[in-house]
Amino acid sequence: MPKKAKGRRGLLVVISGPSGVGKSTVVRKLLTLSPKLKMSLSATTRPPRPNEKHKQDYLFLTQEDFFDRANKGEFIEWAQVHGHYYGTPKSYVEEELSKNHVVVCEVDIQGAASIKEMVHSGKLKSATVFIFLIPPSVDILAFRLRRRKTEDEEMVNYRLRAAIAELQVMEKYDYIVVNDKVDSAAEKIAAIVNVEKERVYLN
Ligand code: ADP
Ligand code: 5GP
Repeated sequence: MPKKAKGRRGLLVVISGPSGVGKSTVVRKLLTLSPKLKMSLSATTRPPRPNEKHKQDYLFLTQEDFFDRANKGEFIEWAQVHGHYYGTPKSYVEEELSKNHVVVCEVDIQGAASIKEMVHSGKLKSATVFIFLIPPSVDILAFRLRRRKTEDEEMVNYRLRAAIAELQVMEKYDYIVVNDKVDSAAEKIAAIVNVEKERVYLN
């Protein structure tokens, strides 16, 4: 029988990848290719970058507010990443999944591991697919991070060292997508989502 018949609702698409690989850029393109996708807006204690807006790029919270929400169980998952806290608000994701929608969330490897654990323990009943975005090479990743000019050189080096560690776990993901060209990476993710929707009978 199709999995929907077993009480599953919706599809949660989890996207991870090293800082600077192009997750935000590719996801932005993905949403134009597949406008019905619902994008989860993460909360963070990281200060906004000059081009970032509250409630558009992130919910920018004080550490006090973040932990208040975390203690109330308002995040599906949260983690400390590169010295700041990031979390996925539960209410939006749960509401959209309950409507049988496809929800995309961008989380680091700890967040993805937490979500996987929720699936294994039965706390998350929705179908999930885990996608890891990789750069064509570490040199290209370094180039993109520096060209973005949003972190100082110390932070760029910190994020590059973290990237090497993050790349070690990519085999745990269902799909690995190379972000060579933005359009083709977004098209590949759109194709994966379409196939996964068929797999879990979500049409
Ligand atoms: P992330 O969200 O993974 O940290 P961003 O989406 O901010 O990464 O992308 C990092 C930088 O790389 C940005 O300046 C973005 O414009 C650029 N970028 C993203 N994807 C590509 C690509 N396929 N080719 C060239 N530059 C890219
Ligand atoms: P950035 O500061 O570059 O926007 O993001 C840094 C890292 O935090 C990235 O690896 C990104 O995937 C991760 N991240 C963003 N939102 C969340 C979230 O809600 N939960 C977790 N665990 N990680 C997140």
